[in-house]
Amino acid sequence: LSVGQKRLFRNLKLVKSDYSGHQAKMAFIVEDGHLIWMGSQSKIPKGLKPKDEFDLKGQLVMPSFIECHTHTVFAGSRADEFEMRNQGKSYLEIATSGGGILSTMKKTRSASVKQLLEKTQPLVDGFLAQGVSTLEIKSGYALDLKNEIKLLETIQKLKGPQIISTFLGAHALPPEFKTHSEYLTYLGTKVLPVIRKKKLSNRVDIYIETKFFESGPAQAFLKQAQTLGFQITIHANQLSMSGGAELALELGAQSADHVIHLNEKTIQRYGKSKTVAVLLPAADLYMKCAYPPARQLIDAGATVALATDFNPGTSPTQDLSLVGFLARLEMKMTLAEVFQAYTSGAAKALGIEQSQGDLALGKEANFICTDAELSDFFYSIGNMPRHTLFIRGLAVKI
Ligand SMILES: [Zn+2]
Repeated sequence: LSVGQKRLFRNLKLVKSDYSGHQAKMAFIVEDGHLIWMGSQSKIPKGLKPKDEFDLKGQLVMPSFIECHTHTVFAGSRADEFEMRNQGKSYLEIATSGGGILSTMKKTRSASVKQLLEKTQPLVDGFLAQGVSTLEIKSGYALDLKNEIKLLETIQKLKGPQIISTFLGAHALPPEFKTHSEYLTYLGTKVLPVIRKKKLSNRVDIYIETKFFESGPAQAFLKQAQTLGFQITIHANQLSMSGGAELALELGAQSADHVIHLNEKTIQRYGKSKTVAVLLPAADLYMKCAYPPARQLIDAGATVALATDFNPGTSPTQDLSLVGFLARLEMKMTLAEVFQAYTSGAAKALGIEQSQGDLALGKEANFICTDAELSDFFYSIGNMPRHTLFIRGLAVKI
């Protein structure tokens, strides 16, 4: 079978777009990986009927998941730091004893593409096994031109889900630079043009926080990125009201991620904006942070997405069920809102909502089918209900 062939899926229960339930005895036809017909299986147009038919035996069919914020490519491990943190060591003590993000940087700089691929591909497979058809991965653990490019090239070689790479050179200050501003100037003038030219990514991210990359210097850098044609996204307001969330609105960023510390005015502005609020509650659990004001954001009319923020330091989990569970238990999101955040919301965060994020005519046939009910999802931590994943109409073998 190839993506191009026309095929019919029938005898399925199709989840409604607002996740309020499903319609039984439905069918759809996929051609070139896209949905070209959808409807009741008693009304399949004779002229369209293809040779390949798949009886889904009454299973529930829903959009597959989009994981829109991860730091999946890195070398080494930071597992020891978790014990140190729990035993009361401060971040500074951990950093001076050789830990922290710079320890990951050293190991990542010295790893080859082959070594990185060997470590990363099983992690990517771990997302695929949970029904993730599209996965965002950020660079940001090398912090120099040569090795950040190596990370983006590694990301391009990963297999399985559709992968979207994001350049996060502005993740932390590397030892070669004295100030965050100097480093941003280097990234803007020496690194961004190369990434653009080599077509390694069309997205730029930055970690904005007081005493790290501050919103003033960040603004000039992000405008430079936009001028070069990059979409922008911001790690914003995780630890304080650092201005990142407001900058994201001003610049029309694709998303602002974390957004824990928001005042009422900013929440209302998100309600009127296209900038997606990407919420990362697994990181908040690990960091013992407050959870983001999901309920207020949604009630104000904002689009929200959920993601794992998978990374070796502050969110070493790939578990979508944990993320959705926390959104329900701690952030008062409804189950339907969790599904939307992990599908259409995440598609908007990545700017791919024209082709992905829901099952509609003309969109990619990215879906999961399962014998489980909607209520079985995001309920039991560590347990994604058994399902089969289809990407562009082809079943994925896990
Ligand atoms: Zn992150």
